Amino acid sequence: MARDDAALSLKRKRDGEPHPNLQAKRQKLIEGRRNLPIWKQQDGIRKALRQHQVLILSGETGSGKSTQVPQFLLQEAWNTGKIAVTQPRRVAAITLAHRVADEVGTPCGSSSPASKVGYSVRFDDSTSPSTRIKFVTEGILLQEMLRDATLGEYSCVIVDEVHERSVNVDLLLGFLKQLLMGRTKRQKPLKVVVMSATADVDSIFRFFTTTDGPANGLDPAENHLPNGNGEDVSKHSQTNIKVAISHVEGRQYPVNMHYLSKPTNDLIDTGLQRIFQIHCKEPMPGDILVFLTGQESIQTLQKLAEEFAESLGREVPKLLVLPLFAALPQAAQQRIFLPAPANTRKVILSTNIAETSVTVPGVRFVVDTGKAKIRQFRSRLGLESLLVKTISKSSADQRKGRAGREAPGQCYRLYTEDGYKSLEKDNTPEILRCELSQALLNMKARGVDDVLNFPLLTPPRRETMEKALLQLLQLGALDENGKISKTGRQMARLPLTPSLGRVIIEAARAETSCLLEVIDIVACLSVENIFLNTDTEEAREEAQIARSQLYRREGDHLTLMTAVRAYAEADDRRRWSDKHLISHRAMQSVMDVRKQLRAQCQAAKLTDGDKTPSASASAEEVAENILKCFLRGFWNNVARLCPDGSYKTFVGNQTVAIHPSSFLYGRKTEAIMYNEFVYTNKTYARGVSAVQVRWLDDILG
Ligand code: ADP
Repeated sequence: MARDDAALSLKRKRDGEPHPNLQAKRQKLIEGRRNLPIWKQQDGIRKALRQHQVLILSGETGSGKSTQVPQFLLQEAWNTGKIAVTQPRRVAAITLAHRVADEVGTPCGSSSPASKVGYSVRFDDSTSPSTRIKFVTEGILLQEMLRDATLGEYSCVIVDEVHERSVNVDLLLGFLKQLLMGRTKRQKPLKVVVMSATADVDSIFRFFTTTDGPANGLDPAENHLPNGNGEDVSKHSQTNIKVAISHVEGRQYPVNMHYLSKPTNDLIDTGLQRIFQIHCKEPMPGDILVFLTGQESIQTLQKLAEEFAESLGREVPKLLVLPLFAALPQAAQQRIFLPAPANTRKVILSTNIAETSVTVPGVRFVVDTGKAKIRQFRSRLGLESLLVKTISKSSADQRKGRAGREAPGQCYRLYTEDGYKSLEKDNTPEILRCELSQALLNMKARGVDDVLNFPLLTPPRRETMEKALLQLLQLGALDENGKISKTGRQMARLPLTPSLGRVIIEAARAETSCLLEVIDIVACLSVENIFLNTDTEEAREEAQIARSQLYRREGDHLTLMTAVRAYAEADDRRRWSDKHLISHRAMQSVMDVRKQLRAQCQAAKLTDGDKTPSASASAEEVAENILKCFLRGFWNNVARLCPDGSYKTFVGNQTVAIHPSSFLYGRKTEAIMYNEFVYTNKTYARGVSAVQVRWLDDILG
């Protein structure tokens, strides 16, 4: 299909118009469905759910779980409501919804009243009253529970890709278990399907069937019996939740593996070499999917690959390099799903967001750096940061699987075979490595008072939970009795960490209005980095000059605000971005988030109301107000200047240095407040502003 046709078809799909070749296309899709390994197990799966409340379904990637199971269940007699299918990431929820809508033969989303399949992700609800299958992110389903804790509109919740073990999926499993145990009353019965390629089936079984959690459960081997349909069925269990286990034999296309003979310490350079080795030697068609750690490494490799491709002769096909990371605007993310133009090979440079659930049509080659950026909480310092880490075996296998979705493929691992063997088996569940205040606030807002005894697949240490509760108390989200406060409820409604949520609420309450200014800054902080790379000293100097008008001596927060405001007012935003060495793409995301946050604040009645900045307020006073709002949420992240010229944190007395990317880099000021810690060769504070110690007294009373 030519590129324009593909774009047109995508648009048609969104607008709800039928495709002219719909019939032929559907026929092909139906045949494709019948060839999937899961097809033969359709009856077994349906029967298992007629007889049980929970089905744990494992099966290799590509066997058809995500696309087929919701369709199998659509006509079941018990299914009088909707089916929710949760995904760890929005891009997966959106593409799966489009694919399943095609297979079902209805338009996707909200455009047509006849649409049976839709999706809902943060900032984008594409469903209609007729939607029967709804793909959602885990976070959205949790958010829906704030309105209706019983999830009453659903007959079935399918929890997909459970092996990723995000905090949200663990919370969801806990809430679903409570619903199934009847602790929260529902009008109609609920069915739950838990699916994954690499999940630990036994511990999930124990989780649902025992009241004491996985550490003290029954042996699943004694509790499930083959029933003649290929699946195993459990006997009654301690919780009275009836759980079936089933496995789909996979049939992924073969993927040929390639390893390095010795480790590399330059993944970008090795990745670049691999891309061009494939591009110059391997036949077309065959697109390449490269897994990298984050926006910065993606942009570096994109630039290098585009430059190198330019230098190749005309006899080599063209290369189209497309980035994919969470902060990329949605329209840019969707570009990866369009076929490459004629005589062109697509190279998609992605973070781990393409690791699961996503089928990128055309991909035959995967290049895996073996690294990912993950959130890690250092409880000793009381701070969370993003760290580049080696991935687990199960992630490496998921990445490899992306090459064999549609045809045989090749996977190039940029590490040795021994390196692969030494990887951890599974990802450490996020709940064991993240700051817990958001998770606990989520529970409190959904009516769980005794959070320490909430059912969790892998409960974190009690001490870590208690620390997070203390933080919520300090943020004013809980009262002295541990009950959620009005402020806490407002914070839980905002799709932000409790600290940033508190900043927004503080701004709405401030004597003089600064909510809109604070939203601008928070929007920037939600996007990875708006400033283009300044790796070398020379590049940094060039950027300093280009951005000199935006620079605010108070530090990064006010500088971000100035940048957003100048961008919003620019006649030609792209030119403005180029001139100031700012990423136009990142700014588009900032504007998206800013719009949504404004709408959400309005919906939550968090507005400036009649307050307007006092005419007599100086720029300094306004800046002080804004920074005080940030301090209310981040007063734990304050460091003061010591006589030896270093900064030491108030909490924990740790030395921190200002990150070179900060506008305050190299400056000395009484005290600094920062948004995050990063660890490279030393401890850096990022997102830094100058504050005064006496402001802390004003704020904390
Ligand atoms: P699983 O959940 O078991 O990994 P899926 O149901 O996601 O499997 O996908 C099954 C197969 O359907 C894939 O291997 C692929 O061939 C096809 N498929 C799924 N989504 C798409 C899509 N968006 N575009 C093209 N093919 C797809």
